[in-house]
Amino acid sequence: MAQPFPDQARAVIIGGGVMGCSVAYHLAKLGLRDVVLLEQGRLSCGTTWHAAGLVGQLRAHLNMTKLVQYSAELYAKLESETGQATGWKQCGSVLVARTPERVTLFKRIASAAKAQGVACEMISIEEAAKRYPIMRTDDLLGALWLPLDAKVNPADVTQALAKGARINGARIFEQTRVTAIHRKNGTVMGVGTSKGDIKAEIVVNCAGQWAKQVGRMCGVTVPLHSAEHMYIVTGKIEGVHPDLPVLRDPDGYIYVKEEVGGLLMGGFEPEAKPWAMDGIPEGFEFGMLPDDWDQFSILMENALVRLPALEKADIKTFMNGPESFTPDNNFIMGEAPELKNFFVGAGFNSIGIASGGGAGKALAEWIVAGEPTLDLWPVDIRRFARFFDNDAYLHDRVKEVLGLHYKMPWPNRELTSVRPFRRSPLYERLAGKHALFGSKMGWERPNFFAPSATEVTIDYSFGRQNWFPFVAAEHKATRDGVTIFDLTSFSKFLMQGRDAESVLQRLCANNVAVPVGNTVYTGLLNERGTFESDLTVARIGEDRFLLISGTAQATRDADWIRRNMHDAHAFLTDVTSAYAVIAVMGPRSRELLAQLTRAPLDNKTFPFGAVREIGVGFATVYAARRTYVGELGWELYVPTEFAAGVYDALMQAGEKLGVRDAGYYAIDSLRLEKGYRAWGRELTPDYTPYEAGLGFAVDLDKGDFIGRAALIVAKDKPLQRRMLSFVATSPDTPLAHGGELILRKGKPTGEITSASYGHTVGGIVALGYVATGGDKVDAAFLEGPFELDVAGERVPVRASLKAPYDPANSRVKA
Ligand SMILES: Cc1cc2nc3c(=O)[nH]c(=O)nc-3n(C[C@H](O)[C@H](O)[C@H](O)COP(=O)(O)OP(=O)(O)OC[C@H]3O[C@@H](n4cnc5c(N)ncnc54)[C@H](O)[C@@H]3O)c2cc1C
Repeated sequence: MAQPFPDQARAVIIGGGVMGCSVAYHLAKLGLRDVVLLEQGRLSCGTTWHAAGLVGQLRAHLNMTKLVQYSAELYAKLESETGQATGWKQCGSVLVARTPERVTLFKRIASAAKAQGVACEMISIEEAAKRYPIMRTDDLLGALWLPLDAKVNPADVTQALAKGARINGARIFEQTRVTAIHRKNGTVMGVGTSKGDIKAEIVVNCAGQWAKQVGRMCGVTVPLHSAEHMYIVTGKIEGVHPDLPVLRDPDGYIYVKEEVGGLLMGGFEPEAKPWAMDGIPEGFEFGMLPDDWDQFSILMENALVRLPALEKADIKTFMNGPESFTPDNNFIMGEAPELKNFFVGAGFNSIGIASGGGAGKALAEWIVAGEPTLDLWPVDIRRFARFFDNDAYLHDRVKEVLGLHYKMPWPNRELTSVRPFRRSPLYERLAGKHALFGSKMGWERPNFFAPSATEVTIDYSFGRQNWFPFVAAEHKATRDGVTIFDLTSFSKFLMQGRDAESVLQRLCANNVAVPVGNTVYTGLLNERGTFESDLTVARIGEDRFLLISGTAQATRDADWIRRNMHDAHAFLTDVTSAYAVIAVMGPRSRELLAQLTRAPLDNKTFPFGAVREIGVGFATVYAARRTYVGELGWELYVPTEFAAGVYDALMQAGEKLGVRDAGYYAIDSLRLEKGYRAWGRELTPDYTPYEAGLGFAVDLDKGDFIGRAALIVAKDKPLQRRMLSFVATSPDTPLAHGGELILRKGKPTGEITSASYGHTVGGIVALGYVATGGDKVDAAFLEGPFELDVAGERVPVRASLKAPYDPANSRVKA
């Protein structure tokens, strides 16, 4: 008997692909009653049905790896739980390298894999040939073996998840299209469908490549765009059997999997083909796109090099199906900042089958707990902002994104499409001075300044890149003289109102009830006592605060703060675009600024941490005495239209002091020498301030704040993990870039979160968390000995709780 169509549900999930079914399965498993899934066609009919079914475990970020590891565990047991087969087969995968750089990358991957707990090893070419006998190997330089990688049948996995969801009480309606999202006062109220309205407390948008359209029904930004993704399937080939591992040849852009005695071969070509510029056609169900052998030719040519047997094989199927891609090649998860109780899980960039099990669990937990239960920042919907929802931008960006899967992931790789995008008022000036710009949150930010126009380039490698000496000079000028940084991309908010102080006191772990004219560095914590963000609060009036945080945090911070303001008389305004930020840093910064202002800059009148409204040249700016580079310095918050004037005045006045521009690569090197932590690297929802070594920025005595109860408990317990600084100064050490395995007494103990070359300490300088096993982190513990595994090479490092560069703070505090 057909089940009656509900008019009410606790949670409505839109979309019956692998993600929607995984969310339904996990919500039902978590005990959420009244879960309803709506699918406009039939289950798996969107992108899921035609996926190749590869489940590759290793990802760039530890928690993303954990999601796939969980998917693997789940898919392996779903058949016994539900009776529905999934085609699960743990066949392992072989990755091959055609270039020396790719071999180095593999070595780095093997090191990161150890840190992430993934089985992975470098193997010889002979060993690779044994595992994949039909492959040509004479042009190969190295290979990697991941024994736990697997393959599944995606449509069957989806049916098994759906069955498991139904067993646990969820209801699934196919042929039911969601046509509207109902909302009231910023909260979702339910959905309108082709079969009638359903009132719901929670709505989850798992509509795959349609998720952007579904988001637009209710003003929610889901920045993704469809692109064509293709593979072929051959008839039977001699020597191909079901136990053959998956083969990946990233230098040739291809992946290969056994399929019914033949081969399924697809890949990620360097320039993709966006699809559905005018929207996805009505009724696109189990849809395929026309064969495009021109687009596929680069994959075919490479496959013929690797697998000569393909030459004579029958091509049974040319599969061209659309998949959605996002601006940064990471998927999109979480509660929409624009609409309460409206969640998104979409934009899987061709890894939705591998990630679907874990991502569905993580999103279900987020829905039930009201916040993510682990650090999901790389895929958090709040890493985007409204301006990413531009179709022309998305169209041009996805052309580049699909190919990133197999493009060399250089440590400081920059994407090149749709650039320049967001520009500071100083952009043209800095470009004229040979700035090489990087991109963050859409902003163009100077990474370094080259001595000539022809050197404004990055020659990517794992070793010292072309800009090494340029950054060394910027670093030295900051330590010894004075430099100017364009930090305009900082996120900035005004918090105003008579309850502004009390709202901030509840949000901040540090005491921000300071007199007007002071700044306070603080974490914003969740109830678990771990970081939701970190920022600087500048009190610029009795009921007026300027909040300053990192470039990437704008949407996230606004969301977190607004969620926790409740009915207070306080108003948050994003003023990021209203102010440029020009930082004047270095021991001679006072001398420089003094030429342009009548305001006293001495330590007594303008101490460290103070913020004052002062004149600089003809402009009136907020000047905050802060530093992220470990030197005397001021950050100037300049109304945008005055920025160029202030910059010119500083440059002119600083000429005789040898002032020069400096960029973000120098900042990384300078801040790591000073042990300064960065949001998203060292500070994440996985760590407390105590673990991060930021206990000094917590005031447990100031009254209640979010996370206080958890910190009181944590404070009395031995730390299990602790952030340490690391330095390696022997002359031949390879460079570290983050993600390296940390060893103590020869045993794996953690992972590097940030690394650079410290030009003052003269070697690797890095931060990373280590497992303490509950031991006190004292001198004996720090003795280690510690090492880093850099691409398979053991590099001895010195560990310390304190900053590696600390000139007794004399210049900073003096
Ligand atoms: C050729 C190809 C090969 C691939 N190979 C792999 C692989 O080997 N490994 C891997 O991990 N990933 C692979 N992928 C990617 C993978 O298929 C996707 O990431 C994944 O299927 C996305 O699942 P989803 O649930 O997000 O989207 P979908 O499967 O598209 O599901 C979304 C569903 O929402 C429904 N829907 C949309 N709008 C509405 C509405 N208004 N009302 C109701 N329902 C609606 C749609 O009908 C659709 O069924 C591949 C993709 C392609 C194209």
